[in-house]
Amino acid sequence: MIHAGITGGIGSGKTTVCRIFAALGIPIYYADERAKWLMVKQPELVAGIKALFGPAAYLPDGSLNRAHLSQQAFGDPALLGKLNALVHPAVGQDGLEWQNAQTAPYTLKEAALLYESGSYRFLDKIIVVTAPLELRIERVMARDKVTREAVESRIKQQMPEEEKVARADFVVYNDGTQSLIQQAYGIHRKLIDLAQGEQ
Ligand code: ATP
Repeated sequence: MIHAGITGGIGSGKTTVCRIFAALGIPIYYADERAKWLMVKQPELVAGIKALFGPAAYLPDGSLNRAHLSQQAFGDPALLGKLNALVHPAVGQDGLEWQNAQTAPYTLKEAALLYESGSYRFLDKIIVVTAPLELRIERVMARDKVTREAVESRIKQQMPEEEKVARADFVVYNDGTQSLIQQAYGIHRKLIDLAQGEQ
């Protein structure tokens, strides 16, 4: 079985493109959502986060105290690094277990930080969704009802999109000029061929 990853900068359209693959019957692991879930549900990870950030890391109802975490980690790259060193392997292990339980010709793992987190190393092929910077900013401002500055500051924290595109096995151009469905279907066929070649 082939294990592919799909990534792209904020607002590039990863989730939109994933909907097409999901409609084609491909199982998708949404790593960012799953990470949030694991951070409150997986006992070892919860214990590790409490050890790093203190008991105030969680609110009385058991949910993550995001304000406390961002306040502590803000301007402390070492602490943020330690948090990532706990979360990334936990999501990696969970993703592996998920992959092993699938029966499709290939699987997709969607993550905003596939390259930054290092999880690309465990994937056979990477799809990068890309869109012009201005379009991404406008789409996220409209979707999240946030300011241009807020979007730009999130974009600055990510690997430059050109670098992701240069490293990709497949690129989906979400600039409104090319059909997303046709592009996704073309990649789908190639991944199926690859999976069949493996058998
Ligand atoms: P994030 O990293 O923030 O999760 P994303 O890469 O998953 O973003 P999407 O949520 O798929 O991006 O797209 C961002 C916004 O742009 C959404 O509101 C989506 O509906 C819209 N959008 C994406 N692609 C298109 C398109 N081709 N035409 C019109 N709107 C689009």
